[in-house]
Amino acid sequence: MGQQVNNEHFSTEEELFEAGYRKYSGEKIDIFYNKEICIHSGNCVRGNAAVFEVGRRPWIMPDNASADESSRVIQTCPSGALKFIRKDEV
Ligand code: SF4
Repeated sequence: MGQQVNNEHFSTEEELFEAGYRKYSGEKIDIFYNKEICIHSGNCVRGNAAVFEVGRRPWIMPDNASADESSRVIQTCPSGALKFIRKDEV
């Protein structure tokens, strides 16, 4: 609670769930993905293939990079399909 989501339209994970996002939990960051919004630009998998790997289950593994690195990649998502909540910055 009290964490910031990287988008002014959402403030809590409950709102992300209501908007259709799935949660991929990590130790220091939770990543949220909405497949209905994704436009398949591939920025995420090109940005960090250890965290984002299409075809793997789960396809997002937040702990395969630092929270800084994951948040950097997520901010390159052009559609808004990826969001994150940092758990290491309160
Ligand atoms: S960067 Fe965003 S829009 Fe592009 S494939 Fe990844 S989740 Fe989808």
